[in-house]
Amino acid sequence: MLVVACVKQVPDTTQVEVDPTTGTLKREGVPFIMNPFDIHALEESLRLKDRYGLRAVVVSMGPPSTEVTLRKALALGADEAVLLSDRAFGGADTLATSLVLAEAIRRLDEREEVAVVVCGRQTIDGDTAQVGPGIATRLGYSQLTLVDRIDEVDLRARKVRARRKVGGWHETVEAPLPAMIAVVREINRPRYPTVPRRLMAEEATIALWNNEVMKLDENKIGLKGSATQVRRIFSPERAKGEILGDGLSNPEEAAHLLIGKLIEKDILYL
Ligand SMILES: Cc1cc2nc3c(=O)[nH]c(=O)nc-3n(C[C@H](O)[C@H](O)[C@H](O)COP(=O)(O)OP(=O)(O)OC[C@H]3O[C@@H](n4cnc5c(N)ncnc54)[C@H](O)[C@@H]3O)c2cc1C
Repeated sequence: MLVVACVKQVPDTTQVEVDPTTGTLKREGVPFIMNPFDIHALEESLRLKDRYGLRAVVVSMGPPSTEVTLRKALALGADEAVLLSDRAFGGADTLATSLVLAEAIRRLDEREEVAVVVCGRQTIDGDTAQVGPGIATRLGYSQLTLVDRIDEVDLRARKVRARRKVGGWHETVEAPLPAMIAVVREINRPRYPTVPRRLMAEEATIALWNNEVMKLDENKIGLKGSATQVRRIFSPERAKGEILGDGLSNPEEAAHLLIGKLIEKDILYL
């Protein structure tokens, strides 16, 4: 049986700028990284492999350069990597992205049964947290989001028990397999790649599934298949702050000034 991890290659947002003329992210020269939540999703898939003897497959939809991220996943312990890449997949919103990923997982399942799909809670560029649930809905899988601990995957009884982190509290849930599990960062501490695995990963073959292989309806993928389009990306203008009670040694006086200001701005009513 398979455990499938979905990982996205994203721009290292600490270094991303918005192109003011096009309103899109400047990607040239920006380093790309594995989406931070997906490092934990991958790690959790490898722990399920170790615990239950599952075969670990990692999939990613993205441009050809995404191969770098998939080789990192192989170096960490994934048994197989699949790159879903085609110009026709480009410009996809979450609807179109989840379609391509779900169809890739369906293809894997036809070859060997998929027990669990592990996704990250969200990406650091699109940030929608919609793709994991989208994959589960399309495949009719159970969906467990905000998971910070997987207690048990019972392959015989075909069920999974896991803990979700919901706001300030936890809940333990059980669901039938196959299941999509979207994890938070607290779920684990990622392992480091070993030298032999790094060397192996450099030589490994990464399967490329373009639309000739996937044969998906072109109207349902990429920009054409996207219900939403990102019109413009821009940094919000920050309202200018005001220093209150500068030089005032007495905090009480500063507090009075603040309350006065809040009342003045109809933020506080007494
Ligand atoms: C600034 C910005 C804003 C955007 N806003 C929207 C929007 O409002 N609505 C919309 O529909 N699209 C939006 N998009 C497009 C959206 O980013 C893409 O559709 C993207 O492919 C998936 O959405 P996400 O990044 O939000 O993923 P999320 O739903 O946040 O990702 C959750 C998990 O799904 C898996 N996953 C996501 N993408 C991939 C992938 N390509 N390959 C493998 N696994 C993956 C990962 O495990 C990830 O942790 C936006 C893009 C940008 C850059």
